Amino acid sequence: MNTNHTDIIIIGAGLSGIGAACHLSRKNPDKNYVILEARAELGGTWSLFQYPGIRSDSDMYTFGYSFKTWEDQKSFADGPSILKYLNEAADEYKVREHIIYNQRALSYNFDTEKKSWTVTTVNTVTEEETVYRCQFIFSCSGYYNYNKGYTPEFKDQSRFEGEIVHPQKWPEKLDVANKKVVIIGSGATAVTILPELAAEGAQVVMLQRSPTYIAALPNKDKIAARLKSLFPKKVAYRLIRYKNIFYAIVFFNLCKFFPEAMKKFIIKGAKKALGNFPVDPHFIPNYNPWEQRFCIAPNGDFFRAIRKGNASVVTDHIDCFLTNGILLKSGETLAADIIITATGLDLVAFGGVKIQVDEKPFDVSKSFVYKGLMLSDLPNFFIFVGYTNASWTLKSDLTSEYISRVLKYLDKHHYKAVQAKVVETNLKPVPLLNLNSGYIYRAANTLPSQGNKAPWRIYQNYVLDYKMLRLNAVKDKRLTFFK
Ligand SMILES: Cc1cc2nc3c(=O)[nH]c(=O)nc-3n(C[C@H](O)[C@H](O)[C@H](O)COP(=O)(O)OP(=O)(O)OC[C@H]3O[C@@H](n4cnc5c(N)ncnc54)[C@H](O)[C@@H]3O)c2cc1C
Repeated sequence: MNTNHTDIIIIGAGLSGIGAACHLSRKNPDKNYVILEARAELGGTWSLFQYPGIRSDSDMYTFGYSFKTWEDQKSFADGPSILKYLNEAADEYKVREHIIYNQRALSYNFDTEKKSWTVTTVNTVTEEETVYRCQFIFSCSGYYNYNKGYTPEFKDQSRFEGEIVHPQKWPEKLDVANKKVVIIGSGATAVTILPELAAEGAQVVMLQRSPTYIAALPNKDKIAARLKSLFPKKVAYRLIRYKNIFYAIVFFNLCKFFPEAMKKFIIKGAKKALGNFPVDPHFIPNYNPWEQRFCIAPNGDFFRAIRKGNASVVTDHIDCFLTNGILLKSGETLAADIIITATGLDLVAFGGVKIQVDEKPFDVSKSFVYKGLMLSDLPNFFIFVGYTNASWTLKSDLTSEYISRVLKYLDKHHYKAVQAKVVETNLKPVPLLNLNSGYIYRAANTLPSQGNKAPWRIYQNYVLDYKMLRLNAVKDKRLTFFK
């Protein structure tokens, strides 16, 4: 295989890149492709993160691919099981032989004359640069910096004599038994780590500036089990997937349209699960449900750890670090042997790659996202970004399905390139992501915009996207095709 010139280059061998490759081999087997992956292993997020208890907080029937069943009884899978699932998919669709590891993409340049891309990479081991050519780029590089997580600089941090750990760089051995551990943060990572460390014998405090919505959900889905016993594997998987998509849409819309009622309902659930631990103020967020990502506690593990007494939550602000803990703005002190900074991700768009057209910089922040998968004025470039209110894979699967149709359309009409263009005179830019989480806010000016109406608007809704990407015609006045 001549890897330096191919039809398609997929950047990233995570869930999106592996999924895109499987879809290609299923739907467009005539296309050549390679996957350039910066790391030495496939799996992306599910190979990088090694903190205790790492798991999905989406159910695996929707987080799994549309074309590969999820067999396990557990709805929320641990990291190693997800990694195994991705490896199996790569083997089943012979994706592995297309992956070139240790290749970090540095820059892309589209040649409008030749209608082709050049991708310049650096080998992360030898530092050797290589130039690849292709007709299409699938940008499956995720959304955050792989080298480091986000950690704000805390006052007097260097004074602390214990260990400071960021969940993105979890040490191979971290003995927490009989240690006092403070987890800074209240997102999904903190909520996952707390019960694990408590079970390992630590006394854990989750220190949050403000509360998050957390809901206990059973890890075994009884309806799923029943459907699996009644129907063949593939049929059952599809039915469970549609059931869960339906539930998620209903839940999201209840939160959107009846925020007060849903707020009460979720807080009541937390109160019941917590026993004597006070729900107020620690579990009463100052935003409405789903304005920020929702946290799940499979089988209520998080609440159980608090009820048992080996974990607790403190809502306060950090004043400074001490030699043996943290001084809070309220004047209270938290003793700590270990501090976990679950303070989030450092968001990076398009794998930090420099994008050019005819050797001139392409300003991503001035472009609009078309159907959630192309950028205006950038030909033959597809992006894979999942939902923020549902499983990532639901959208990345639809993205692959749509691209497959575009590739067939181009071949049928002997076109070499496709480009989205804003033809509306009154399209207003809207921030790309609807969540007001810190890490999204910090990176807002490096991202493209969405528009205020379809197909430039991102509705975060599987049903609308299904219609737009799988049923509507490919031909559209906003798409220009080139011979
Ligand atoms: C801890 C954690 C838990 C999560 N849980 C869920 C969940 O339950 N449900 C959900 O829907 N989402 C979840 N997410 C979001 C999650 O990242 C996505 O669901 C999904 O794994 C994204 O897959 P991806 O392939 O698009 O990106 P990634 O998994 O980030 O993979 C991107 C790949 O691209 C490679 N890459 C990046 N830049 C370059 C470059 N310049 N050159 C070459 N290669 C490059 C990376 O090395 C990586 O292998 C979670 C995220 C985290 C961090």
